[in-house]
Amino acid sequence: MVHTQLLARGIKDPSTIEAMQQVPRHKFVPKKNMRQAYNDSALPIGNGQTISQPYIVAFMTETLNLSPADNVLEIGTGSGYQAAVLAKIVDSVYTIEIIKELAYSAKNRLDTLGYDNVTVKWGDGYHGWPEKAPFDAIMVTAGAEEVPEPLIRQLKNGGRMVIPVDDSHGGTYLIKFTKTDGKLKKDILEPVRFVPFTRDKRSH
Ligand code: SAH
Repeated sequence: MVHTQLLARGIKDPSTIEAMQQVPRHKFVPKKNMRQAYNDSALPIGNGQTISQPYIVAFMTETLNLSPADNVLEIGTGSGYQAAVLAKIVDSVYTIEIIKELAYSAKNRLDTLGYDNVTVKWGDGYHGWPEKAPFDAIMVTAGAEEVPEPLIRQLKNGGRMVIPVDDSHGGTYLIKFTKTDGKLKKDILEPVRFVPFTRDKRSH
C-alpha cells in the first residue's frame, strides 16, 4: 500500500509515511471487508459512511504539515482510522462524529488499540470543540457546502485546515487554509469525492 499507492503518487512526508505503515487499517473496517482493507479505494464502514482511500488519508495528513507537539481537531471520526494516523504524528487529537453509533464504536476501537491521545465526541462538528481550541491543525473528512465559521475561529495563528468543499458545478475540491496574522490564505488542491457533511438540526 505504502509503495504503490502513496510513494508512487508523490507522498513524501516521512512522518505521514511512517504513520500509514504503523496503523493497522484492517482493524478499522468491518470484518467482511477485511481482505480489501489495503486496496486502493474507500470502503463502507456502516451507517452509509465510508473510510477514505489510503492515498486521500495520506494526502490530507501530509497537507497539514504536522509537528509532534500539535493539537489537532478532526471532524468526521467515522471508523477512527484517520484519527489514529494523526495520533501517531501529533500530541493530541480531538475528533467529532455526528452519528452516535459510529462515534461509540470508533471510541471503543481506538481505546482497545491503545490510541490514548485521541478523544472522541459524539456531536455536530460544525461548532468545532471550543474547550479544546485553539488548534494547530483541523481536518474535515466530509464534503461541506461551506466552510464552518467556528472552525476558522478555532484555528491558531499559523494553523492549517484541510476541508473538502463543494463548488457550484457539482464538484468537490480539497481546500487548504492557512491562518497567518489573522488572515486566511486559500489553496485549492485536488478534486475529491466525500460523503456529505451533515448538520444536527436539534442543535439550532
Ligand atoms: N475520517 C473517517 C472517514 C469519515 S467519513 C475515517 O477515517 O474512517 C465522514 C464522516 O463524517 C461520517 O462518519 C459522517 O457521519 C461524519 N460527519 C458528517 N457530517 C458531520 C458533522 N457535521 N459533524 C461530525 N461528523 C460528521
